[in-house]
Amino acid sequence: MPSIQEQVAHFEQMLRHTGSQLVAVTKTQPAAALRQAYDAGCKRFGENRVQEMLEKHPLLPADAEWHLIGHLQTNKVRQIAPFVHMIQSVDSLKLLGEIDSQAIKNRRVIDCLLQIHIAEEESKFGFSYAEAASLLQSEAVAGLAGIRVCGLMGIATFTDNQEQVRNEFRTLKSFFERMKLQSLPANVQMRELSMGMSGDYALALAEGSTMIRVGSAIFGSRQ
Ligand SMILES: *Cc1c(COP(=O)(O)O)cnc(C)c1O
Repeated sequence: MPSIQEQVAHFEQMLRHTGSQLVAVTKTQPAAALRQAYDAGCKRFGENRVQEMLEKHPLLPADAEWHLIGHLQTNKVRQIAPFVHMIQSVDSLKLLGEIDSQAIKNRRVIDCLLQIHIAEEESKFGFSYAEAASLLQSEAVAGLAGIRVCGLMGIATFTDNQEQVRNEFRTLKSFFERMKLQSLPANVQMRELSMGMSGDYALALAEGSTMIRVGSAIFGSRQ
């Protein structure tokens, strides 16, 4: 197993040619592992739980960016609003509204991605394409001065079927491109497409991902 440093260097090297970014997914990983990734040059960290992000945030220097990638309950937004760099897992207008009000209280604008449900598996989380299309163009979003919608996030089906995964990424990318052509509110900019994890990042990059979220391929398996 290569070291964390070697894996971070490997990903950063690979991404240099693509212009896309690495988010190191550190859920369940100990502080020492985060530190090693940071020292190897990784500056973006993804956590799926608020509590864990709160515990880890003080452990790294201030230039580390914290990305929330898991379902966020509205009553927990307040805790991460002072420092979170991007909330990638926005899955309701209600949540967007709460992020907006907490951002304003902190005199910030918080970057968000809309999570789109692209996998075949049943999930309570993520918008359908139709829901996302109407939300992105809605007055309700345009009025939220504390948020900036920067793009979309998707999690592909967990399967060995490469063609299925490729199709899910391709469909998300084409929706992303279609939305770019719409007239969108000033606080909606379609620039980030977060797709690809340890098992499918190569496919995601081939299909136009701008941000891959990689955990186990850097840190080893989680228990
Ligand atoms: C855990 C997680 C990842 C990273 O998964 P790996 O397979 O370990 O790379 C990426 N995105 C989300 C939303 C996750 O919850």
